[in-house]
Amino acid sequence: MLSRLSPQAPDKIIGLMQAFRADPRPDKIDLGVGVYRDAAGATPVMRAVKAAEEQLWQSQQTKGYVAIEGDPEFLEAVRGLVLADAVAAERVAAIGTPGGTGAVRIALDLVRLANPAARVFLPDPSWPNHAAIVGHLGLEQVEYRYYDAALRGLDRDGMLADLGGAGPGDVVILHGCCHNPTGADLTAADWADVAAVLERTGALALVDLAYQGFGAGVEADAEGLRMLAARLPEMLVAVSGSKNFGLYRERVGAILAVAGDAATATLARGNLSNLNRQTYAFPPDHGARVVTGILTDAELRADWLAELDAMRTRMEGLRASLADTLREISGSDRFAYLAAQKGMFSLIGATPDQVAVMRDAHGVYVIGDGRMNVAGLSEANIPRVARAMLAAGL
Ligand code: PMP
Repeated sequence: MLSRLSPQAPDKIIGLMQAFRADPRPDKIDLGVGVYRDAAGATPVMRAVKAAEEQLWQSQQTKGYVAIEGDPEFLEAVRGLVLADAVAAERVAAIGTPGGTGAVRIALDLVRLANPAARVFLPDPSWPNHAAIVGHLGLEQVEYRYYDAALRGLDRDGMLADLGGAGPGDVVILHGCCHNPTGADLTAADWADVAAVLERTGALALVDLAYQGFGAGVEADAEGLRMLAARLPEMLVAVSGSKNFGLYRERVGAILAVAGDAATATLARGNLSNLNRQTYAFPPDHGARVVTGILTDAELRADWLAELDAMRTRMEGLRASLADTLREISGSDRFAYLAAQKGMFSLIGATPDQVAVMRDAHGVYVIGDGRMNVAGLSEANIPRVARAMLAAGL
C-alpha cells in the first residue's frame, strides 16, 4: 500500500529554515519563516500568556475531555474579540480548531458538505496552504486578481471584476488583515465594495483572520470583516491565535459561522461539531483556555493588548526604517511601499535569482517568492538588508 504513494514536494519554508540553520555565517539574517521576533530575535512567550498559564496550573483539576466543539467560554470570548456586536450572538455558530489551519480546513470541509460543486475563489497570491487545502478536498479553485506587482498594492478593479464572476454556491477567501504574503490590505472603502459584490453575487465569504492586532490594532483589523458580517446574510471566519497570542505550537483556532438565523446557526454548529469529531474529536484545549483566561480578565487583557500594540508598533517602525534606509542609499522613493503595508510580510519583488543573491552573497534569507518577514529586521541589521536588496538589483 505505502509504495503506491507519490512523493510530495517538501514545504518550501521548512526547507529554508533548515538551510538557514545549516548556514555557518554568524551574521546571517532570517527574514523567512512567518513568526514574530523581538529585537533580540526571539519569539517570546507573551507576559499575559505566562500569567494565564500560571493561573491555569494552579486552578485546573482535570484534563478530562471538554466538548467536541471546544470550551464554550473560549468560543464566546473569541466571538467577542472578532465580531464584537456586528451580529446577534444567536446567529453565530462557533467551534474550536487546531490553529487557523484547522479552521480553514474544517471551514472548507463544511463548504464541501453543503455544496461539493462550490468553487473557491482565492486571491493571487495567497497563503500557499489555501490552495493546498482546496486541492486536497477536491474543490474547484479559481484565482482572483489581488496584487498589482507594479503598483506594489491592491489591484482593486481586477479584484472586484473577478469576484463578480462568483455565484451563489461559491466561496470567496479573503484575508481579514495583514495579507500574507503581500502586506497589501483592503481599505474600509474596498471592504464596502467587496461587500457589495458579495451581496450581488450571493457568494459566501470565508475570512481568514490570522493576524488580528498586527495590522492597525485589534479593533481596526476586524472592522472589514465586521462590516461584511453586518451586511451579508452568511459568512465564515477562520480565526488563528498563533500570532496575536504567540501560541504557535499550542494550536489555538476557531471557526465563527455567521448564519441567517438562529435555526441555521444550530444546523451549522451540528455539522461543524460532526466534522471536528471525525477529524480529531476534540480540539486542543490548553492554548484555548489560556486565551480565555486573558480575554476574560480585565488586567490580563489590558496587558496582552499593550504587548500586542508594542509588537505592532515595532514592526511599523522597522518597516519605516527599512524604507528610509533604502531611500537614502538608492536616492529613490521606490521602496515607500514597505512603510505603507501592514503586518509581518511584504513582497519585495525579487526574482528567485535575486533571492539567491541576497542569500548566498549577503546571508539575507527571504522566501523564494520574495516574501520578507519584517519582524526579522532589527535596527542593527537594516543597513545590511538594504544593501543586499540593492546589490541584488531591486
Ligand atoms: N492563514 C494565514 C493567512 C496564515 O498566514 C497562517 C499562518 N501562517 C494561518 C492561516 C494558520 O496559522 P496557524 O495554523 O499556525 O494558526
